[in-house]
Amino acid sequence: MHRLVCVNCGQSYPSQEIVYQCRRCQHLLAVEYSLDEIQIETDLWNSRPLSVWRYRELLPVKGEPVTLREGGTPLYHLSRLGKEMGIRSLYAKHEGMNPSGSFKDRGMTVGVSMALELGKRTVACASTGNTSASLAVYAAKAGLHAVVLLPAGKVALGKVAQALIHGAEAIAIRGNFDEALEMVQELCRSHGLYLLNSINPYRLEGQKTIGFEVIDQLKGAPDRFVLPVGNAGNISAIFKGLMELKALDLVDRIPMMTGIQAKGSQPVVRAIKGGMDTVVPEQKPETVATAIRIGAPVNAEKALVAIRSTGGTAEAVTDAEILAMQRELARKEGIGVEPASAASVAGVKKLVENGVIDRDECIVCVVTGHLLKDPETVIGQCKPPTEIDADISSLVSALRL
Ligand SMILES: *Cc1c(COP(=O)(O)O)cnc(C)c1O
Ligand SMILES: [Zn+2]
Repeated sequence: MHRLVCVNCGQSYPSQEIVYQCRRCQHLLAVEYSLDEIQIETDLWNSRPLSVWRYRELLPVKGEPVTLREGGTPLYHLSRLGKEMGIRSLYAKHEGMNPSGSFKDRGMTVGVSMALELGKRTVACASTGNTSASLAVYAAKAGLHAVVLLPAGKVALGKVAQALIHGAEAIAIRGNFDEALEMVQELCRSHGLYLLNSINPYRLEGQKTIGFEVIDQLKGAPDRFVLPVGNAGNISAIFKGLMELKALDLVDRIPMMTGIQAKGSQPVVRAIKGGMDTVVPEQKPETVATAIRIGAPVNAEKALVAIRSTGGTAEAVTDAEILAMQRELARKEGIGVEPASAASVAGVKKLVENGVIDRDECIVCVVTGHLLKDPETVIGQCKPPTEIDADISSLVSALRL
């Protein structure tokens, strides 16, 4: 049993109502469960595979979900990079190992399942890429029609490829993500499509399971979660989930929630550093990490609470630092991630060097999307293969053996 509750004024709405923003104050809604009525048997959880649906008692879906076995992603110990940074317990939760290659699948398995329960036939989103890829995949699985709005020319190649092959109706907007999001909200309001951006509270329910899985994998909470922040949905979602576990006595403390943005797109960082209660939108966000190229993060209000109330922090890293860390993860740990994902680990490096993060902490970086999402940015950083004639002597001289 759940209801939707305004994060600002507390006004509540029944679960069957299709509403994304409070009618009284326009703020976002969150899913609220009657936690005192929920019986959680951790033995039952542990008997299920590590996945989003291990935690179904804390998810809103009643019937059989639309699932491609999302979640259950590896938590890697970064032994070599950790040693270089002087951190013994540095981990990466590789969300690129989800069905469509990003954590968005955790939200979409729940969001698309809810779309079916609510009787919707067409789902829609605006996207910097991964949300559209994931929505296309889950709409295909569910037999729904998907409409995706993309900022023209600013979506990584792999993500566009996914949206197209899985059958979404893709529209390129001559504008940025923030404008595309305004448009899709308007479209959903006027034409009854079901909106699956992260203002949809059900999506965040799926995403909160990242935190649950990490706690199961480490057999306890880490000291800190570090995430790249775009719309700030994921950092808010993980925090919400942790608070639920705390209320249920399933975890004894809440990790410090830490958000990393790119220098050219850092409204949340500015708000945290400036002690502001609201985020001032960035008019022209720019970064190589297109997944976090977002100037007006819709979940910022919740993210500020998550960061401040846990004693976390926010920091910005340059595109050069992001790309350097993408290469380091690839070459020293065998972990292939897209640029936005590398921002989390680049942020840890910077915060350790600045003395903000203690080297004794147990730190989990969420690396959000797979390397192959954005092959063009990878190729642009690497020397192409050496082309030679098909004979052994050319090979040996090319290799300088
Ligand atoms: C969506 C996305 C983000 C940003 O997540 P938010 O919830 O919008 O803050 C970061 N990295 C990748 C790869 C993403 O797809
Ligand atoms: Zn309200």
